[in-house]
Amino acid sequence: MRIVVIGSGYVGLVSATCFAEMGHHVVCVDRDAERIARLRDGEVPIHEPGLEPLLLRNHQQGRLHFAQTLRPVLTNIDLCFIAVGTPSAPDGSADTSQVLAVAEELGRWLPQRCVVVNKSTAPVGTAERIERTIARGLTQREAGFTVPVVSNPEFLREGCAVEDFMRPDRVIIGCADDQARQTMEALYAPFLRKQPRLMVMGRREAEMSKYAANAMLATRISFMNEMASLCEQLGVDIEKVRLGVGSDSRIGYDFLYAGCGYGGSCFPKDVRALIHTAQRHGLPSHILQAVEERNTIQKAGLFVKLQQQLGALDGRTIAVWGLAFKPGTDDVREAPALQLIASLLEAGAVVQAHDPVATASVLRCVPAHWLTSGQLVLHAQDPYAVLDDADALVIPTEWKPFRQPDWQRVRGLLRQPVVIDGRNLYDPAQMQALGFHYSSFGRPSVT
Ligand code: NAD
Repeated sequence: MRIVVIGSGYVGLVSATCFAEMGHHVVCVDRDAERIARLRDGEVPIHEPGLEPLLLRNHQQGRLHFAQTLRPVLTNIDLCFIAVGTPSAPDGSADTSQVLAVAEELGRWLPQRCVVVNKSTAPVGTAERIERTIARGLTQREAGFTVPVVSNPEFLREGCAVEDFMRPDRVIIGCADDQARQTMEALYAPFLRKQPRLMVMGRREAEMSKYAANAMLATRISFMNEMASLCEQLGVDIEKVRLGVGSDSRIGYDFLYAGCGYGGSCFPKDVRALIHTAQRHGLPSHILQAVEERNTIQKAGLFVKLQQQLGALDGRTIAVWGLAFKPGTDDVREAPALQLIASLLEAGAVVQAHDPVATASVLRCVPAHWLTSGQLVLHAQDPYAVLDDADALVIPTEWKPFRQPDWQRVRGLLRQPVVIDGRNLYDPAQMQALGFHYSSFGRPSVT
């Protein structure tokens, strides 16, 4: 098939590459000229394990192309995917302006019928809005054909996106057109050879499934974080409780980890969007409000625990290991580490931070004066370099190299043996034996 993917971020680039890998002819479009130039030069602009070799091979073999403008690449295509951003608007709703702008362009330029597929996470009714927007453009220029719009929410996880896309748990197709359904079934058949779980449903059900799935996962995390804070008060170890709870086959172990809260480009904004939708329909959303509030408390928890260990933070130097919102990605959107750094700088501390892949993303999104003033120092290479003369080490992201550090070396470099563990990576008794003042989430602090 001939496919266009609009938006070459985490979702668009991975989808486009994986479709090309299955033999299709794919053009990936992005309005960001620099991003397209880098891709054409063989440089992959995001960190996603396994993506680079796959993308480069398909580009070199002529199945994967990159373009900045949409109009020239729309001729004779079978499918057009929309994978642009749907960030939070100031009122918490999902801002669908990027999606609808693409729909306007498609209405203006599509030269023939094709199936348009929305992969962006967008509120119930968006596929219908896209279809109406395109239809308006087609009518205005008397195009003489119609364009069906499918909702195909994406469930990949950053950090294992290629693996998830190649072997999805399920593919959801929200569809109101039989021919479009057949095209989608044919497209996804090779991805579902082992696990033939393709679900066809209404477009509104597909859109709601994505929000409900993310809200459920965020709820599990916030629920465990609430249990963790109770455990701290009761002198109970949440990690033991997690094993006890997760072993129930009705519950399972996934998304039961207590810690410094969830971040990223999906859970926070999708929970907010769902709350907003409920409010617009006059419904209270007790559970989702609580999920969000609990997460706000957790993210502030790193700072609070530091204060408990060190007192006033003015003039302190704090080492941070991990800036990405989770391991395996360079995405720092709504990352707990960034909130911690903002609070520390406001309190007058200096931050020395390391992340194996996300320092470049941080450079792009933090105020320049944080760096020029010397208040924030970033090290991409060596985690130990940031420990020099620091009063404490904080770990917001559970990158694998942080799991078994050289604790003697850590102790030797830190000015004070204080460790705040945002992901419960270490054994409190062992940390105590090594001479650290150690705080984590949902477990007793040790000194
Ligand atoms: P992203 O911000 O990484 O990428 C979006 C890209 O779209 C950007 O490069 C931007 O320049 C481009 N773009 C915006 N408007 C455009 C236009 N008119 N023409 C061409 N390009 C345009 O976003 P993402 O993380 O890939 O997410 C995309 C969507 O998928 C969102 O709705 C998100 O909620 C959803 N989603 C994301 C993930 C994830 O893990 N990142 C997972 C599932 C679903």
